[in-house]
Order: sequence, then C-alpha cells, then structure tokens
Amino acid sequence: MAETKYIFVTGGVTSSLGKGIIAASLAKLLQARGYKVTIQKLDPYINVDPGTLNPYEHGECYVTDDGAETDLDLGHYERFLNEKTSQANNVTTGRIYQSVIEKERRGEFLGKTVQVIPHITNEIKERIQILGKSGEYDIVITEIGGTVGDIESLPYIESVRQLLWELGDNNAIVVHLTLVPFLSAAGELKTKPTQHSVKTLMESGIKADILVCRTEHELSDDLREKLALFCNVRREAVIQSIDASTIYDVPNFMLGEGLDTVTLKKLNLPDEHHPDLEKWNAFLDRHKNPKHEVTIGLVGKYVELQDSYKSILESFIHAGAENEVRVNVETIHSEYIDEATIKNKISHLDGVLVAPGFGERGIEGKIDTVRYVRENKIPFLGICLGMQMAVIEFARNVLGLKEANSTEMVRDTPHPVIDLMEAQKEITDKGGTMRLGAWKCTLKEHSLARSVYGEATIMERHRHRYEFNDRYKEQIEAAGLKATGLNPDTGLVEVVELPDHPWFVGVQYHPEYKSTVANPHPLFVAFVKAALKYKQEEKSATLA
Ligand code: GLN
Repeated sequence: MAETKYIFVTGGVTSSLGKGIIAASLAKLLQARGYKVTIQKLDPYINVDPGTLNPYEHGECYVTDDGAETDLDLGHYERFLNEKTSQANNVTTGRIYQSVIEKERRGEFLGKTVQVIPHITNEIKERIQILGKSGEYDIVITEIGGTVGDIESLPYIESVRQLLWELGDNNAIVVHLTLVPFLSAAGELKTKPTQHSVKTLMESGIKADILVCRTEHELSDDLREKLALFCNVRREAVIQSIDASTIYDVPNFMLGEGLDTVTLKKLNLPDEHHPDLEKWNAFLDRHKNPKHEVTIGLVGKYVELQDSYKSILESFIHAGAENEVRVNVETIHSEYIDEATIKNKISHLDGVLVAPGFGERGIEGKIDTVRYVRENKIPFLGICLGMQMAVIEFARNVLGLKEANSTEMVRDTPHPVIDLMEAQKEITDKGGTMRLGAWKCTLKEHSLARSVYGEATIMERHRHRYEFNDRYKEQIEAAGLKATGLNPDTGLVEVVELPDHPWFVGVQYHPEYKSTVANPHPLFVAFVKAALKYKQEEKSATLA
C-alpha cells in the first residue's frame, strides 16, 4: 500500500470519555478488515514519562517490551490488537521539550530563537510520523490526551492542524469524541456542549470529520440530524457511543454505528472486507456466559483507584473467559490487614493476588496475607512486590529470620533477602532507571511454572529496582521455597514457588502487561483454574 494514513482522535467537553477505548475499538475494526494499524498516545503533561507518577494520578504505569513506561491506554491498545507497542507509541510534552532542549544544547538550531512554533510543533509532528514512516502500518491512530481548549494541549492541536494540511484530504482525518449529557430535570439529551467543543476545535483551524458522542441514552434521528447540521459533519459521521457493560463490547457497538465504514470512506480506502471478529466474539461469548464463578482477592495499597491495577483486572477477564469462569475480584487494602482482621478478609477467597507496589506503606499486611494463604493452602500469585513479600514472609516465618526485609523498606535490615542489584546502587535519578522491559527467563524442568507456560524459555516485562538476594537462595530453597525461574544471563531469580502447596507462585516480572484478548496470559489462566479447583474441593470438603 502507498502512504500511511493518519487518524487523530481528540476529546471535547470533559475528560474520561474513553478516547483510548474508542481508538482501540476503531483500530480493532480496521485490523479485522485486514489493515495494519497501530495506536499512539500523546500526553500533555510535563513528566518525561508516567514512570515517576503515583498511580493515584493517572492509574497504572504500563510497560512495553522495549522498556517504555507508558500511559495505561497502551495496555488497551495491546489487549485489543494483540500487537506490541513501543517507546514511539507514547509521547509526553516532557519528552518533546527534553528532546528540543537537547538539540538546542547540541547547537542544532544555532543562531535561531527556539520557540513553541515551529520547534515544539515540528518535534511533535516528527514523533507522530515516526510510526507511519516505519513502513509497517497502513494506518496510524494518534490519540491526543486532554480536552480541546486546554492550554497544555494547544501545541498538539496546532501540530495536528499543520499535518492535516500537509498530508492532504483523504490521508488524515479527525475523530472528535464528545459528551452528549442527559439533563434529567429537562428529560433531554443536550447537544450544546458538543457544539461548543467542535467550535473550539474550529477556532484552532481543525474541522472534525467524525463525531463520536458518548451518551447514556440512545440518540434519536432528530438529534443526530441536529448534531450533523450544527457541527458541520455528515449525518453518517455522527456516531453514538452508548455506555457499555464491558469495554470489549465497544468494537461491536462501533461496527453497528458504522464508525469503520465512514472512516475508510473519508480515508479513501476500500472497505470490501467485512471485519472478521469471530475470535473476538467467541471471547465475548465466553466472557458473558460463564459456567462457574470464583472470588479472588487483590491485595494492594492503591485499591481506591481501580485504574491502578488496570492490566491485572483485564488479565482476570481474559483468563476468566478462557476458563469460562466469572472472576469476581475483591480489592483489599493491605494497610488494613493485620493478624486480627486477616481471617475475616481472606478466608472466604478462592485465590489471592498480592499486587506490585513501591514503598513500605501496607507491606506488613501483604506479608500477613502471604502467611495466611501459604498456611491455609489458598492459591496465591505474587507479582513483583507481591513476590518479594512472599520471599520475606518465608524467610521470617519458615527460616525464622524474624527481621528479614527488603532494603527498600529497611535499609540496614540484618537479613536483606530482597536487595538492590549492584548496578542499581550507583543510580540516583528516579526516572527510567529501573530494570525495565522484556527479559529472558529460563524455567526449571518439572516446576509448576514450566508446566503452566509449556515452554522452557519465556520473555516477560519488568519494572523494579530490587531483587531476590542470591546470598539467601540456598537457605530459602533448602527450606522449600524454590527458585524455578532464572534470568539465564545474570542468574537473577524471576520465579519462586512452593511445591508442597497446591498453587503458590511469585514472579518478579509483570505477566499482566502481556495478557490480551487473543492471548490470555498462561499464569492468569492457570491461577484462575487453580482457584476454581480450590473452591470446588473446599465445597466438597464442607459437604462431606
Ligand atoms: N518496589 C519494588 C522494587 O522496586 C517492586 C516494584 C513493583 O512491584 N513493580 O523492586
């Protein structure tokens, strides 16, 4: 195919309209028609990447194979498309400025005044086109974070305006996502906020080609006509995006509304193939018609904000569908777990996941949780910090090293069973300096991990500074907690498990980043299966 086509997705009226899901759904439909599609997110904040952000700010930090710490929308892109994203798929204002300022210091603009226009906008335009110029994609969808009219989004909007002009009609279009609110006092859906946001976009010289209208109620024909006329779009380009019970319904909703057809028409691309969504719909069918149910506890300290554990929650949806099991995830705040409350909070669960995290807040609750599930033989999956807590718990309660800890929590602990790698000790910068991205791991023969993956060598994504301390490995293994996954190059322990427990696995990496609709993650699939088995055995034991 000739030139790559570009779709810009902007948002109006308010944030949290689900631009990421609309972008991912449109991409899914285009992919299902045979196009090669990727999605990129531009974020207007000044952090160079979201790695330094607290999860309460924008939710989880998602990590790609190439070690980019990114916005959680990239997780949706990968889960929907089953395609890898990379550094190039997420760009922030901080990154743009960093790169322009570095160029200025190198003298690349020597003699010139460096300004937002053209230097910042040129840098943005370049970043938008990197993926397109790679020759890998027919279509690049670029989601502009924030809401039109925001001061901080202006350079992005101006860059989009310039690109639309440079690329020409039919090569680049704008999909504008807005809100059509329902005023219950008037009993009516209101179009005015949408008219205003389209107008704001026009003030920046951009005309929306397609309107996607978030709404809680069906848009009538009259209302669609009105939106088309006053927002200057074709009638078929007014797309309703009604609240869905699951985000995985949205591609079908968009198909029903013809979002893919109108997009292809505007881009002058053939639409002869009907989207092949057979596998997608088979997943949806299993997801919506489970035969069994399990309740899994998610023990973490950012549980007030569900987005903090987005990829984990989605992985349970994929793994649940695979097993035809509804997975009810009960979030449990680790700060409120102690010996007095533990039984009440954990004993009814069919499985427990101890979450990733940073810092010492809530870690004792996580350690108490691991002890409870280890002793009561409840299926357990520990991820990153969760795995580290499993090692600490084992050292304290089985080896009797009462003060065992991670040096992240107690720098001078007498038993640093979790410690910084040598290479990390010199590092003082916090941004982008953890062990990040995909690393190889070799799984020991006859281990649970090996049977779960069905492979001897795996690649999983990491995001942490601290590691299992090799000095304690022999002692810990001899007492029964086995290191069954190792980094083949460094020997670092990546997986631990307890062979005399029905299902107890801790992983230093983040399996949740790799679970997709098309490829549910084997660890989550096996964990849900183990929870179901545990539940069924518990039930028959109480009945007996
Ligand atoms: N805080 C731990 C570390 O840096 C674990 C990180 C995580 O759970 N992602 O090693």
